Amino acid sequence: MRTSIQVGTLIGIPIRLHFTFLFILPLIVMTFAHGPTLSIGPNSPIYSLMVSLFAKDPTKPILLPLGLGDLNISAFLRYSLSSIAAFLFFVSLLLHEMSHSYVAMKFGTKIHGITLFIFGGLAMMEDIPKSPEKEWRIAIAGPLMSFTLGGVFLFSFWGIKAMIFAVQRPVGIVVFMLGFLNVILAIFNLLPAFPMDGGRVLRALFAKRMSFLKATKRAVLIGKAFAVIMAITGLIADPFMFILTGERETNIWIPLIAIFLYIAATEEEAATTTFTALEGIKVKNVMRTERTSVPEDMYISELANKMLEERTAEYAVVSERGELKGFITFDEIKRMPVEQRYFLKISDAMGSFDIINDVVSEDDGATEALKKMIRHRKNVLAVKGEERGSVVGIITRRDLMTYIEMLRGSGLV
Ligand SMILES: [Zn+2]
Repeated sequence: MRTSIQVGTLIGIPIRLHFTFLFILPLIVMTFAHGPTLSIGPNSPIYSLMVSLFAKDPTKPILLPLGLGDLNISAFLRYSLSSIAAFLFFVSLLLHEMSHSYVAMKFGTKIHGITLFIFGGLAMMEDIPKSPEKEWRIAIAGPLMSFTLGGVFLFSFWGIKAMIFAVQRPVGIVVFMLGFLNVILAIFNLLPAFPMDGGRVLRALFAKRMSFLKATKRAVLIGKAFAVIMAITGLIADPFMFILTGERETNIWIPLIAIFLYIAATEEEAATTTFTALEGIKVKNVMRTERTSVPEDMYISELANKMLEERTAEYAVVSERGELKGFITFDEIKRMPVEQRYFLKISDAMGSFDIINDVVSEDDGATEALKKMIRHRKNVLAVKGEERGSVVGIITRRDLMTYIEMLRGSGLV
């Protein structure tokens, strides 16, 4: 399933929007349009600090607008300003991810794209360098950009405050909020909780003194602990509201984000374990050289029998002349009604084939093959021989996973 659409390209990096992003977009607009103005009262732990910094008259509460909600303005102005602000907010997210990508590119890492989704952005990198010196620099670049943007917006806010024009107050509020949100984003990303940027910096620091796998496991453990604490905190009292107002309120978004972080940390650990296990293993060590191909004009019913007989779920499809045409897997025929299997041929049901993306060399690393499968959502790739360039076998996700399991079982990793 395609879950994201490409909206453009920046310095050679494709920018995509994930479908969850479409849900969050109206929510962000509504937050800008109807967010309340908080008053920081004496109950707030930062009250005295705020008074000493900002208050001209210490007897009045300090007002912190979190949207245009308490302003009496026309609906047109409210929603157009909020839409522009939401757009600028996502530009900020994009610039955060672009900074990670830019530094990574300088270190020679290929960037496949940046996807904006419900919780922010994600830069898809070919391979995060395992050198700690590079990793922490890539990780820190995003929060630094957010701090800078926060500074620029807050600085503009002071400028706008000093000016006098018709819509000065609402414009000032959204500019202030953009600055405020970017600073929050920078701080949140610096939490030492994997897979946040701060967690990556932490892993890089660990990795200076231990193996990459051990460093990941340790950073993931801290990340998980952080997620659990975060979830509990959200259920007791939103720390953000507590700091600003001194009031205890539950915020259901915090445990939700915590669950997301916990899952992401677990996945990162699994991926690192898998890729570390495959280090030094070549495609030719894992590929299958028998039961590799079926002719494109074979009937599906025949293929189903063959699969059962050979206990094989993936084949390369070849033409009469032996040319590679595509792949057919058990998943594709499983969905097909039984009666259709008698008149449809493999060529009617096989998956698409791409001569560049679906082929690996036998001397490539097994990790390359797995990355290719993940990136192009494939379960099988063709393997071409180093010398003749012809197809010598196939490599499947299933075979890779079995191989890793056996490596582990044998106590080698
Ligand atoms: Zn980041």
